[in-house]
Amino acid sequence: MSVHARTVAASTPSAARGENQAKQQQKQQTELNPRTTTREFLGAPGAAAIIVICHAVLYAFYTNCTEDGCPNAQGLAWLVQSPFNFPSGWQSAYHRLGLQVYVGWLSWLLGLYCLVPGRWVRGTVLRNGTTLEYKVNALSALVLTALGCAAGLYFAGPEPFVFVYDHILHVITAGIIIASVLSVYLYTASFLPGKLLALGGNSGNPLYDFFIGRELNPRIGSFDFKYFIELRPGLIGWQVLNFCSAVKQYATHGYLTDSMVMVQVFQLWYVFDSLSNEASVLTTMDVTTDGLGWMLTFGNLCLVPFGFSLQTRYLAAHPNDLGLLKMAGILMLQAFGYWIFRSANSQKDRFRKNPEDPSVKHLSYISTKRGTRLITSGWWGYARHVNYFGDWIMGIAWCLPCGMSSIIPYFYCLYFTALLIHRERRDEHMCHLKYGGDWRRYRRIVPWRIIPYVY
Ligand code: NDP
Repeated sequence: MSVHARTVAASTPSAARGENQAKQQQKQQTELNPRTTTREFLGAPGAAAIIVICHAVLYAFYTNCTEDGCPNAQGLAWLVQSPFNFPSGWQSAYHRLGLQVYVGWLSWLLGLYCLVPGRWVRGTVLRNGTTLEYKVNALSALVLTALGCAAGLYFAGPEPFVFVYDHILHVITAGIIIASVLSVYLYTASFLPGKLLALGGNSGNPLYDFFIGRELNPRIGSFDFKYFIELRPGLIGWQVLNFCSAVKQYATHGYLTDSMVMVQVFQLWYVFDSLSNEASVLTTMDVTTDGLGWMLTFGNLCLVPFGFSLQTRYLAAHPNDLGLLKMAGILMLQAFGYWIFRSANSQKDRFRKNPEDPSVKHLSYISTKRGTRLITSGWWGYARHVNYFGDWIMGIAWCLPCGMSSIIPYFYCLYFTALLIHRERRDEHMCHLKYGGDWRRYRRIVPWRIIPYVY
């Protein structure tokens, strides 16, 4: 036998073995990542429409609501008809300084994430039986950012903050560019071998999968993109923009209104509270179920910081004095919302961790086939998502300080109503799949979705 013949004879079985292994792996991958057959948001056309509308809405709010005026309730119709009012054409929406500000901001957060010590916690068990680890240090990032802002104001004066306020259009465009580039990268990288895909993001339609998120936990080493962007650029960025608005109001008018102080305190408290419970994001559907695509990326890099800071931005240009009576009313509304939101969430958390805890052991529950318990009394006996109700009430309390002259600062309430209704429906669907008959039993005991006796 020639050398060549011997080589072929020796390599043929191993080549066949390799081929078999590859086929086996391919089969396992296909079983682990089944095709998505149901599509949300009316599929690809809906996804395309949402992408266009979200960009339009973001620009419309900022180009139409300036120091010179903001649309009132009737103005909303006009806003829809002619949404953009760019000062000198579309090109005025971009400036490299905006990009520098946004890239600098992300670098700061990235630096804090990597350098500031934090504890590592495990996420939920994934479909492939593995768990991932996450570094918890977002609260430190918020505190250090706040100290950085205070130091910046002390040493550099108001200019850098007023600059961001005045150039917000450029910062928004930068956010949009970064969110788009990141989404394209995430979608492309999801085709690398061995990826765990989101069950809802593998339809095979590129536009839909790009929008909804294809890969479940995109990572580079231990850096988890979804976890990083869920709480940091959006929530902390929102507070930084609020701070810029307060500085702008003070620099322009020489004082801070009670309404500005109220909104700042309410929203900072909300973010502080969320980041104090950072690890609880690991059990939300965003982390356990949704892939990371355009929807979450744009939401966290653009909609949260720029959309949620509209109230303070509005107040910077349109100061509104509330007086003691209105302040007291709004404060009570905020406290009521926070009480529902926090006690409902804590009750569930505590019960899930230790049902024998004295504060929750009186609660009635259903033992499910899945091994978990569904609470049927206490907060979770009033409505199946009573925590959303509290969150929504707080949202109203954040908008009311802006008065009634314009609809723009009420964007948060309107958007949040739609978001919570849609989110509740999605969770309801997932719980049906997870719990089957047990969930139907729970629904019979607790018939209300979000607002007890109303909805
Ligand atoms: P929830 O915290 O309400 O969690 C829902 C999950 O809890 C269900 O999937 C189920 O999961 C479990 N569950 C449901 N009913 C019961 C019950 N009766 N007893 C025990 N467990 C139950 O939802 P989210 O993750 O959507 O929201 C978390 C918080 O974040 C909320 O307070 C919400 O308001 C807030 N939020 C804020 C947003 C913002 O932009 N400001 C956006 C989105 C959310 P399982 O059984 O598998 O554990």
